[in-house]
Amino acid sequence: MNLELSPEQQAFRDEVRTFLRENLTPELQHGQRYTTAVYPEPHISGPWQQALQRKGWLVPMWPREWGGTGWNAAQRFIFESECALAGAPLVHPMGVRLVGPVILRFGTEEQKRQYLPRILNSEDYWCQGFSEPGAGSDLASLKMTAVSDGDDYILNGSKIWTTHAHHANMMFALVRTSNEGKRQEGITFLLIDMKSPGIEVHRIDTIGGDYDVNQVFFTDVRVSKANRVGAENAGWDCAKYLLEFERGAGIFSGRLRSQLKRVGAAIDELQAQGKDVRRDVRLVARFGEVCADLDCFEMMELRIMGTLQPGQNPGPVSSILKLRASRMKQAIAELGVEILGPQALQWNAEEHQEGSLLPLLVPDYLNSRAFTIFGGAAEVQLTIIAKSVVGV
Ligand SMILES: Cc1cc2nc3c(=O)[nH]c(=O)nc-3n(C[C@H](O)[C@H](O)[C@H](O)COP(=O)(O)OP(=O)(O)OC[C@H]3O[C@@H](n4cnc5c(N)ncnc54)[C@H](O)[C@@H]3O)c2cc1C
Repeated sequence: MNLELSPEQQAFRDEVRTFLRENLTPELQHGQRYTTAVYPEPHISGPWQQALQRKGWLVPMWPREWGGTGWNAAQRFIFESECALAGAPLVHPMGVRLVGPVILRFGTEEQKRQYLPRILNSEDYWCQGFSEPGAGSDLASLKMTAVSDGDDYILNGSKIWTTHAHHANMMFALVRTSNEGKRQEGITFLLIDMKSPGIEVHRIDTIGGDYDVNQVFFTDVRVSKANRVGAENAGWDCAKYLLEFERGAGIFSGRLRSQLKRVGAAIDELQAQGKDVRRDVRLVARFGEVCADLDCFEMMELRIMGTLQPGQNPGPVSSILKLRASRMKQAIAELGVEILGPQALQWNAEEHQEGSLLPLLVPDYLNSRAFTIFGGAAEVQLTIIAKSVVGV
């Protein structure tokens, strides 16, 4: 593979770097650096998304008429990697990467006009209502009901692990509209105003001490049929399309490299405190292994990206990227805890030590466990890879 950037690619990289220098404020860098939860809080991701939108770079994968950039794979890779290495906040994916593409593909013209500009301008903050108690990997077993009543549906049931539902004003959800035939054929995709009467959001604290996820209860919640995307009972098509974006439309290696840099900076901090981590042969060897793994992953990601046309999604191969990236994420987080040694046991979620990276290593490790669960558990990805990629 030729990894030398062409003169055009170098010029593009320089444009990205200039944009980052001019728009990525120290406050935003600080916010991302000290985020241990899966996504940064809206006061960190929001201003960054607005800066990207002003430049026309918020939704590279969307069609050009709706704000897409038409970038090829190399440009997307350069952009994502430069943003990650500069410490830019993660874009909140629910609107931009998940429901946006579904509305573009399955929505009516009116839904596109109503929702897409509001995603672009960060006016709506979306959450994802797919999982339920008893319906995670086996999503088709979901039970939350939507019963037809004139121009509305009436919703009853509960969604769980709903990331940032406490911040969101909109939810996209899968609901059961029929129990006839195959389970997948009775599911409908709805857009729900979170201020509708009958919705309650209950906080769930995660093991890493962050407040990221919720259980959301619905009691006789009315949703207009105008908020249905696609036909009644055809929501499974929207869900499958969306899950492809959830699993693999991201570019992971830049973020992983940035996480590894953070572990490197933590080593420097420990050295400065007199703990000679660099003389620990076992740790140094482990650090080398993780670096080599990351190089291999980056090559694989580049190779897969290189086969895609602008706007194209990797399809089932995205399961390989998702699986490898989430395991790399965990390996780097484990390294962070290993360098702390017994000091890791003293971690206390209530204690924050401004300016030090060391207190972040344990919550980073604990929260990294979730990466092989959400967006499709590791075992489920392995089954997809076996069936759809390897063909066994
Ligand atoms: C931090 C976090 C944020 C999340 N955010 C959201 C969100 O915003 N919106 C949302 O809808 N959901 C969200 N989820 C839920 C997530 O999608 C589910 O947790 C996930 O789909 C797994 O479902 P489950 O938790 O019910 O576990 P289960 O599906 O019950 O799985 C339990 C175990 O069984 C294994 N297993 C299950 N089925 C199979 C199989 N067929 N073959 C082999 N092994 C199997 C799994 O791999 C896992 O190890 C989030 C989860 C987490 C952890």
